[in-house]
Amino acid sequence: MTSNVPDLPIVIIGAGPVGLAAAAHLAERGLPFLILETGSGPAAAVRDWGHVRLFSPWRYNIDPAAARLLGDAGWVRPDDDKLPTGAQLAADYLQPLADLPALKPHIRYRARVAAVTRLGLDRVRSAGRDSTPFLVRLADGTDIHARAVIDASGTWGTPNVLGAFGIPAHGENTAAEHIDSALPDVLGRDRDRFAGKRILVVGAGHSAANTILALAALAEQQPGTQVTWAVRSSAPTRTYGGQSADALAERGALGTRLRQAVENGAVTLLTRFLVQRVTADGDSVQVSDGERTVTADRIVSATGFRPDHTITGELRLDLDPILGSTRALAPLIDPNEHSCGTVPPHGADELAHPESGYYAIGVKSYGRAPTFLLATGYEQARSVVAALAGDWDAARDVQLDLPETGVCNSDPVAADDTISSGGGCCGTSAPVEVASTGRGLATGIAGGLLTAPVLITLGDKPSGDQTGTCC
Ligand SMILES: Cc1cc2nc3c(=O)[nH]c(=O)nc-3n(C[C@H](O)[C@H](O)[C@H](O)COP(=O)(O)OP(=O)(O)OC[C@H]3O[C@@H](n4cnc5c(N)ncnc54)[C@H](O)[C@@H]3O)c2cc1C
Repeated sequence: MTSNVPDLPIVIIGAGPVGLAAAAHLAERGLPFLILETGSGPAAAVRDWGHVRLFSPWRYNIDPAAARLLGDAGWVRPDDDKLPTGAQLAADYLQPLADLPALKPHIRYRARVAAVTRLGLDRVRSAGRDSTPFLVRLADGTDIHARAVIDASGTWGTPNVLGAFGIPAHGENTAAEHIDSALPDVLGRDRDRFAGKRILVVGAGHSAANTILALAALAEQQPGTQVTWAVRSSAPTRTYGGQSADALAERGALGTRLRQAVENGAVTLLTRFLVQRVTADGDSVQVSDGERTVTADRIVSATGFRPDHTITGELRLDLDPILGSTRALAPLIDPNEHSCGTVPPHGADELAHPESGYYAIGVKSYGRAPTFLLATGYEQARSVVAALAGDWDAARDVQLDLPETGVCNSDPVAADDTISSGGGCCGTSAPVEVASTGRGLATGIAGGLLTAPVLITLGDKPSGDQTGTCC
């Protein structure tokens, strides 16, 4: 594949958990590599959400090759059953891993990759393409040649917009100073921004859940703090998740606590709320779905993340048109069909693009699908490195033992009409057409529940039986 450039390094973009895992596998196989990391140290994204506790215990968070290298260097493995925070994941595992002599000389920090292409070729030129080195350009203009590229740059740097239609809501950019992206540290670093304020959290993933619970705790400590949670679905069933049926107890408990916070009135829930307009008004901001208007002091936009494919615009990528993952991976993780993180084992074959020698792994490999788990990424790293080493038997011998999510056993259709599904991802899923999502959306707007414009002041709670029709 890259036989005439064997001495060039394999470039890994990103020193997050999965990029470092790939490096550990490359080190074990004796293949030259170079990690390019935009942060000033390893795990820059994980440190950003360092105040959040992971829902998976250490046993699922450590890559086996990394554990072997660390073990040889006398590292003491954390208790497999404990749940680290992001900060602990970085300090107790990722930093020591990046500092190993096998890795440290091969990591360049403050090195942001701006573009990846083929040396002397644009996307159109075919002749000799597969045997031509990659050219990786850094933001400072440095060019690096590589025999292959493993893109583990994550999605943390490219949050989704607040606007419900995939484009910024009217006024969203102008009101940016009122908006935090996912996972502000509301009980620590960012407390002053939220204490005593009216806060609207938009989104239905784990990031939203974490932020809402932290805000609810803040509200107990700081009078005047009011929390409203807006979701686009008719009920936050997915966010509540498997609860006691989740094999990851902490992930289940998160959903249970969230449900309690809504049910006991600590959090006001707005369902079928599709943000369309944001209007800054002095110190406050108004958020409208076209029918209802919420007045808040701050908005937390926890609407997910998107992969940044702009850096690979000159590569031949065959991206799934819905998710932006590879086409082979998409059916396995499409949130239109799957309600949880359980995914069949997959590796180099499913992650390959027409551009040979380029693989996106880690959370970026999932595109917009929100269910990525570290254990998945570590197996991707192992398989892709085996493929780059030419060891296709190992590359194809993919193993993945993921904890199950209780929500897999429920039917998301019943409670969430923005997502159509033929069944949970632990069972057989019926094929779902893309249009089904659009149908759900149309129902949400035109289903007759939202009638007259209503001004909602944060802190006013709809009574329990009105959550679906609070206006
Ligand atoms: C709050 C939160 C909690 C989570 N909890 C769990 C959990 O309990 N269990 C679980 O299995 N998963 C969990 N996840 C999901 C997932 O495992 C993490 O997102 C994980 O960090 C993904 O690892 P990664 O290496 O793919 O990407 P990242 O950790 O995002 O690392 C990407 C790295 O690439 C760098 N980078 C980005 N762009 C560039 C560029 N252009 N050039 C150079 N470097 C670049 C970044 O600085 C970063 O260091 C959680 C995610 C979040 C956000």
